[in-house]
Amino acid sequence: MIIVLKPGATQGEVDEVDGKIRSFGLSSHISRGVERTIIGAIGDERKMDAEAFEGMECVEKVLRILKPYKLVSRDFQKEDTVVTVLGQKVGGDTIALFAGPCSVEGRDMMVGIAERVAAAGATFLRGGAFKPRTSPYAFQGLGEEGLRYLAEARAATGLPVATELMDPRDIDVVMKYADVIQIGARNMQNFRLLTEVGKLDKPVILKRGMSATIVEWLMSAEYIASQGNRQIILCERGVRTFETETRNTFDVSAIPVVKGLSHLPVIADPSHAAGKVGLVAPLAAAAIAAGADGLMIEVHDRPEKALSDGPQSLKPDAFRDVVARLTKIASAVGRRVGNA
Ligand code: PEP
Ligand code: MN
Repeated sequence: MIIVLKPGATQGEVDEVDGKIRSFGLSSHISRGVERTIIGAIGDERKMDAEAFEGMECVEKVLRILKPYKLVSRDFQKEDTVVTVLGQKVGGDTIALFAGPCSVEGRDMMVGIAERVAAAGATFLRGGAFKPRTSPYAFQGLGEEGLRYLAEARAATGLPVATELMDPRDIDVVMKYADVIQIGARNMQNFRLLTEVGKLDKPVILKRGMSATIVEWLMSAEYIASQGNRQIILCERGVRTFETETRNTFDVSAIPVVKGLSHLPVIADPSHAAGKVGLVAPLAAAAIAAGADGLMIEVHDRPEKALSDGPQSLKPDAFRDVVARLTKIASAVGRRVGNA
C-alpha cells in the first residue's frame, strides 16, 4: 500500500502515519519528494486497513499495489534507479560494460585481461572466484586467491569489480574484495542467500534464473529490497527453451517488459545467452536497441585454454571491435557505450 501525503505535510504527520503502519505490524519506507511525501507500507497488507489512513487529515490518497512485488515496482517509484559504484553508473545515459573472464584463473591473466578491457571502454570488471559448475569435478574457482587477483586488477585499472557469491558462508570474504555482488542464475531463487544479500550495503547483480518467469525474477529482487538493499541490477542472461543451437534463448523482450514493470536498471549478458562467440555482438546490439542499461561480456586472452566458458569468451581485440560496433547502435537510442 502506498500512502500519498498532502503537500506540506509536517514531520509530526509523517511520524503519525509511520506509527500507524507499524501498529499493524508492517514497516514503512518514506520517500520525500520535492512536493509530496510518499510512504510505502511494507509487509503483509492483509493485516492493514486502508480506511484507517484515508480518514487522516494529512493523507491525500491511499493506493493499493496489486502486484506481488512492491518496492521494485514502477508503481512504487516512477524514476529509474541508477546504481553508482566507485563513480561508475548503471542506469542513465551511459551503457555500463562489465567485462572480464568467466573465472579468475591467475594473477597475470586477470590483471592482463582487465587492462585490455579497460582500454577498450569497459566500466566494470567481472570474474568468478566461486564458480557454480554443473560437474563437481570441474574447476570450482580459486576462492579468496581469485578475489585477491580481482582486487589487483581493480588497483591496476581503477574499475570496480563484480564477482559471484554462491553461499552465505562466503559473504565476509566476498565483501572484503567485491564492489558488486553477483547472484547467479542458479541461485536466483536461493531465498536464504537473497535475504542475506538484502542486508548488505553493496550493489547486487541479480541474474535471471534459467527457467524463471519475469515475475519470479522480480519477486527475487523484492526479497533483496525488502531487507533494505535497494541497489539492485537485474541481468537477463537467456532462458532455457527447446532450442539447442544456442546455449540459452536470449529473451530480448524481457528488457522492455522489465523496464516497464520495475524502476531497477536492467543489463544483458549475451555471452551466457549465446554460448558462442559469434553471437555475442548481435545479441549485445539487440539488447542495447531494446533499452538495456548495460552489458556483461566474457573476455579471455586464450579462450581455447579457458577453465570455464571458453567457447563464448571473446578475445580482448574482438571485445574492442564489438564495443566499437555497438557505439553506433547506442547513439541511435541516445546513449553511449561504456568509456569508448
Ligand atoms: C557467470 O556469470 O559466469 C555465470 C555463471 O552466469 P549465470 O549465473 O548467468 O549462468
Ligand atoms: Mn561464465
